[in-house]
Amino acid sequence: MTENRNEYRLTQEIIALSRASDWDRAKLEWILEGVYMADEPETCLCGHFPIIEICGLRNLYNDNYTEVGNVCVKKFLGLPSDKIFRSVKKVRKDEEKSLNAETIQYAYNKGWMSIWERDFSMDTIRKLKPSLKQLAKRVEINRKIMRNMRRGGGN
Ligand SMILES: [Zn+2]
Repeated sequence: MTENRNEYRLTQEIIALSRASDWDRAKLEWILEGVYMADEPETCLCGHFPIIEICGLRNLYNDNYTEVGNVCVKKFLGLPSDKIFRSVKKVRKDEEKSLNAETIQYAYNKGWMSIWERDFSMDTIRKLKPSLKQLAKRVEINRKIMRNMRRGGGN
């Protein structure tokens, strides 16, 4: 099965970039540094093409950086990228929807939101009928985050 071959290739590539030499320990060395929606399809570290939802991973011990598709990150590394992509897709379809807590925290950590914007977003997540003023603020924040989520975005 090509899926097994892809899994093997992914684990070997990650191990090669890690301090540990076994998968169980190697995968714990990595944190989610960035998530991007690619404009052009790219190839996952496992060899799978095409991927659009890209996760940038950073090794905490040797500072290595690599990029892996969201599916592999969710399946094999267990990092919260999938929740972020699901939220981003929802907001892309309807910019009046709220981002989820994982995405708000991620955006704040990246410096894309002020502390006020983070608190406002967290406080209004479950508000189904925000005031017009709150809705306008939510849309403004959403647009900013969507811009930053594109590879090379923010400019
Ligand atoms: Zn993959």
